[in-house]
Amino acid sequence: MRRRTLIGTALATSVALLSGRRSIAARPEHQIDALVIGAGLAGLTCAQRLIADGQRVLVLEARQRIGGRIWTERRQGSAIDLGASWLHGVASNPLHRVVTQDLQLAVIHTDEQSRITIGLNGQPWSAERTERAEAWLDAFVRRAEDSGSTDQSLSRLLTKPLSSDQRFTLIADVEHELGAPLSAIAANAPLGDGQELVGGDALVPDGLDLVVQYFARGAEIRLGQVVHKIENHPQGVRVTTTAGAVFEARRLCCTVPLGVLKRNLIRFEPRLPNAKVRAIEHLGMGVLDKIVLQFPERFWDPTTWLRNDGPEAGLWPEWVDLTGMIGRPTLMGFIAATQAQQLERLPDQAILTSALNQLKRCYPKRVIPAPTDVLMTRWGQDPFACGSYSFPAVGSTPGMRADLAQRWDAIVFAGEAVSATHPATLQGAYLSGIQAAQALLA
Ligand SMILES: Cc1cc2nc3c(=O)[nH]c(=O)nc-3n(C[C@H](O)[C@H](O)[C@H](O)COP(=O)(O)OP(=O)(O)OC[C@H]3O[C@@H](n4cnc5c(N)ncnc54)[C@H](O)[C@@H]3O)c2cc1C
Repeated sequence: MRRRTLIGTALATSVALLSGRRSIAARPEHQIDALVIGAGLAGLTCAQRLIADGQRVLVLEARQRIGGRIWTERRQGSAIDLGASWLHGVASNPLHRVVTQDLQLAVIHTDEQSRITIGLNGQPWSAERTERAEAWLDAFVRRAEDSGSTDQSLSRLLTKPLSSDQRFTLIADVEHELGAPLSAIAANAPLGDGQELVGGDALVPDGLDLVVQYFARGAEIRLGQVVHKIENHPQGVRVTTTAGAVFEARRLCCTVPLGVLKRNLIRFEPRLPNAKVRAIEHLGMGVLDKIVLQFPERFWDPTTWLRNDGPEAGLWPEWVDLTGMIGRPTLMGFIAATQAQQLERLPDQAILTSALNQLKRCYPKRVIPAPTDVLMTRWGQDPFACGSYSFPAVGSTPGMRADLAQRWDAIVFAGEAVSATHPATLQGAYLSGIQAAQALLA
């Protein structure tokens, strides 16, 4: 009922907009102050701030769920996060306070040092070997940050042949963090282009969807609304969905992921300013996928991180043991960058087999039972994400994130990709949502 009223209203006001005879403000009883495109963390945070200011806000979301790249699946009473999992840098992460104080939820700090790397010969790396590889990576990162440029790739800095340990460390600690191959990452940003994250990382066992629900409270959200055109007029904005619904408002916050913008899935009229077009073209969108396997019993070594330095470099190189958190023997495996994009094209069974083969390689003498439950993602193929998170690609600069965020008449952009301080993270999305609301209210 309300939906029909709003669409009807939008159509009526759109006529006024086009003819220029009557401004939207002439019909205050129907007025939507602000439209927010996307009900992920950035969109919901922005909506909440605008609502707190007394604005009438409508959130349009393409999926049949809210949360975007926060996606929690519930299995036998447990929450499994298939998008973001960790609150990074909890010492200065504002969401840590939201989770632990406002929502009174428990968090589990993960220990980066609790890890076993199974080498090519099937034997775990020794402590010295691990330290040597880490020291080499630290030195490489420093050299890249100091002397690398935004116009060259990280792989161009690798002038000497790499040892297999060095190659594995680069895959597990750089390519996986950024979701992109070394050949695509800007040489001066091997660990990303945001601020350093301090205080360690924490999981939220009850599921990050509770955070999403917290920020969604009180917001009017329309699901299944795939926006494909956004018009920016001096009098306001007009949005058209693929189903032909039209919505109008005085202002708009667009939070669709960078990947969606890169594929031009939304038409902007007039054309976006050059600085934004450049930012969209040059910033990169990485891919990180997950597979979550539950087993009848635990066959792996007791460790937080199981690292797989196998012959097929980049194939499921990292696993995290979620048994303690889920209460059943559970491993979450990660695959990123080119390997993830290739694997996403295969059927589920082939993806499962490739993951199990890597676990069998790590433990050739142990019996690996068939998993009792399997979950997997394909974030690169997801039409409403088109990737997992943004990264500093060759040719991009941090200033481009600010260019993307910059207000464009009645429109602002938010989302992790516009955050110059915390890109690719939850707190980046959250902070960008607050900033977008402030910009729209200014
Ligand atoms: C596998 C994975 C692991 C991650 N791990 C972590 C982690 O551990 N810690 C961390 O801090 N961050 C992590 N991230 C990143 C984090 O999830 C994102 O930075 C954050 O959720 C982005 O929020 P957002 O609001 O910017 O975008 P989104 O959550 O993507 O919200 C954008 C919304 O726009 C909607 N949309 C898209 N197109 C349209 C359209 N045409 N019309 C209408 N709506 C549309 C989408 O459906 C979506 O709901 C991870 C991401 C992934 C994918």
